[in-house]
Amino acid sequence: MHYLIIGGGIAGMSAAKAVRQRDRQAEITIISGEKACPYYRPMIPLLIEDGDADVAYVDDPVNKYGINILHDRAVHVDVHEREAGLASGKISGFDKLLIATGGRPVIPGVRGISGPGVFTLRTVDDALRIRAAALQEGVREAVVIGGGFVGIKAALALSGRGMDVTIIEQLGRILPRMLDARGAQIISGALAGRGIRILTGSAVSEITHDSGRIAVRLDSGGITEAGLVVVAAGVTPDIDIFRDSGIRTGRGIRVGGMLETNAPGVYAAGDVVEFRDMLTGRPSVSGLWTNAEETGRIAGANMAGDVMKLEGFLPVMNAADIAGIPAVSAGIIDPLEEGHETFIDDRPGRYRRLVFRGDVLEGALFIGDVRNAGVYVNLIRNRIPLGGLKEKAVTGDLQYIHFLISG
Ligand SMILES: Cc1cc2nc3c(=O)[nH]c(=O)nc-3n(C[C@H](O)[C@H](O)[C@H](O)COP(=O)(O)OP(=O)(O)OC[C@H]3O[C@@H](n4cnc5c(N)ncnc54)[C@H](O)[C@@H]3O)c2cc1C
Repeated sequence: MHYLIIGGGIAGMSAAKAVRQRDRQAEITIISGEKACPYYRPMIPLLIEDGDADVAYVDDPVNKYGINILHDRAVHVDVHEREAGLASGKISGFDKLLIATGGRPVIPGVRGISGPGVFTLRTVDDALRIRAAALQEGVREAVVIGGGFVGIKAALALSGRGMDVTIIEQLGRILPRMLDARGAQIISGALAGRGIRILTGSAVSEITHDSGRIAVRLDSGGITEAGLVVVAAGVTPDIDIFRDSGIRTGRGIRVGGMLETNAPGVYAAGDVVEFRDMLTGRPSVSGLWTNAEETGRIAGANMAGDVMKLEGFLPVMNAADIAGIPAVSAGIIDPLEEGHETFIDDRPGRYRRLVFRGDVLEGALFIGDVRNAGVYVNLIRNRIPLGGLKEKAVTGDLQYIHFLISG
């Protein structure tokens, strides 16, 4: 059996591992568009600070699981003929295919955005390019466009290099999906404590370049000058090469609960997938490492003949230390719809927000004190009706032991 995987990120690697665990004889080929492989993508901001930082996987899955890896780009796929065209050649006769091409940065349609000194941050190469630009003489200020988690990680890394950093976020607050207004205020304060300037409610209207100096113009009329700019305006599923393949797409590659597409034997996993948001039931794309690992693992298992199902993904699931403040957020943080009940616990050094629908927890935000956050995340993932334990959850006293006793 020949399994072909396009994309050597966490989704592709988890799938390869899951296949190998079930099929010792299988031929597994990964086509990876990147030279550096495989590595922890969320860690690449470290390379901006230290070009030698180790971001490689702890164990080497390529050797450990006997994977053939081709550092090449797939340019076209024919699912009926079982053929993949590569930038240099082709692969024919695969039995099962996994699409794990991930996401690519969104580039806003702003004049000057593709000029010199303007970067995105998605790959090891991107991070090293940003580092090289930051090392150039006279480059002391940086602008980061976008206040999501990639933008904030980039800003912290650049400020860690001693640069003056400004984040420009067009919405009214940073980390709009992960935090509520109060949470954003706390984290913004911590970023300000590191010297990072944050401009919210401002969109970039134009970027101009003049002898190595870059001017970022805002629609509010302001101008911020910089030696380099990082664009972190979101990620979109990388589906271009599949548009004429007959594989159904929406925002991403559409899959069913077994992660199979409409084309038999063709699966998809990771950031490229469009699947159900487990809380709202709406089609959603994820953009999260944990979801990419899980979908890869499930898709690989199913490709190798197992039967595993995914109900949906959590739209928000992040645990991070941001500028020295631990934060965990999961599920629906700032509900727009009726029918939710919100409980807030705001005291020095600790902020918590819990969002319930009836006695089912649908969202949790913990900042500062993240003890027991794992219990709450599991409640959200498993949609456990809390009954009499809801009050304990609200007061923050809920622990694993309560489920052992009650259940
Ligand atoms: C700076 C940064 C920080 C992040 N921090 C977090 C975090 O804190 N928490 C979190 O949950 N997530 C975080 N993420 C997101 C997380 O990294 C992604 O959700 C995850 O990497 C998705 O994995 P994937 O395997 O689906 O796709 P990817 O990791 O994008 O891998 C896809 C691979 O496929 C390759 N590819 C694409 N097209 C082709 C082709 N045609 N031929 C061959 N190869 C191809 C790409 O080059 C890439 O190597 C972060 C991401 C970045 C960039």
